[in-house]
Amino acid sequence: VTGERPDLPARLKRDLALETGYRCPFSRCSFDVQNYCHIVDRAKGGPDVFGNLLAACAAHHHMHTVGQIPTHDLRVLKARLAWEGNRYTLTELRYLARFAHHCGTHFGHSVGDEQGIRNITRDGYVERIGSVSCAEGAAQNGQGQWRLTNIGRLFAMAWSESGAPQMTSL
Ligand SMILES: [Zn+2]
Repeated sequence: VTGERPDLPARLKRDLALETGYRCPFSRCSFDVQNYCHIVDRAKGGPDVFGNLLAACAAHHHMHTVGQIPTHDLRVLKARLAWEGNRYTLTELRYLARFAHHCGTHFGHSVGDEQGIRNITRDGYVERIGSVSCAEGAAQNGQGQWRLTNIGRLFAMAWSESGAPQMTSL
């Protein structure tokens, strides 16, 4: 058993393979994608979401599984692939840059503009922690409350280190 996870959805596997151009993303390796590394291990609660998975060849997947590749290296690699591949919207890049500078873990974002943060939501980096009804009055004018997930926090920490462009307009 190589540790392959046959129960990952086909679409998720395809997206992960696309992210790395169907090649193992590790340095000086260009083997075909054969496996998918859980960045935070399943046994430690790591979810089966795009943001917690990285495509790799069988050899590099095994090296990660046995602890020969630091988990942090996968996070930095994942962050670099994210901005090199133009995966995120400008709004999402601004949030990621803000969180990379440890400016909190919660944020308000317009409920009407969920499309603007759809990718970081779908990838498992942020989650909505409730809609704010008018009666509550806790947020203004259609603002929802969101927060970084656990893997979102780890991803944000790797974001700066990956060489991501600074979003100085914040
Ligand atoms: Zn490899």
